[in-house]
Amino acid sequence: MELNDIYTEIITEHSTSTRNRRHLEQASVSLAGKNPSCGDEIELELLIDHGRIMDASFTGTGCAISLASASMMIDLIKGKSLSEAKSLAELFTAMIQRKITNDQDLEPLEEAAALKSISNLPARVKCAAMPWHTLETAVETSNA
Ligand SMILES: [Zn+2]
Repeated sequence: MELNDIYTEIITEHSTSTRNRRHLEQASVSLAGKNPSCGDEIELELLIDHGRIMDASFTGTGCAISLASASMMIDLIKGKSLSEAKSLAELFTAMIQRKITNDQDLEPLEEAAALKSISNLPARVKCAAMPWHTLETAVETSNA
């Protein structure tokens, strides 16, 4: 199996998974993210306790890339502190903008590193980055 096939499989699995697509009953922060150029619209919900993300979810619609990216992000940030989540979002953004390309440096992103190849598809970069931008804003909002 080619590496690209594995990536495609991970993206497909996440974009169709409903595990992270639900409403949080007691969300501390709820924030909308949009990518008008593609029509992706998600609502990110975080349950934060003592500066830690205890639970996270999203609802909304979008293309496979945006949904997969949101789902991978939620898997990754659950249980993390707000500052950890923020630096992961910064790392993801640096990856998608090709500012960081070294696979070792991208290890903290776990499965989300599978979206690295999207950086070669300029039209889809915004789809992949949108959930992470939403997360950054949500973290800033809840820190205020
Ligand atoms: Zn999209």
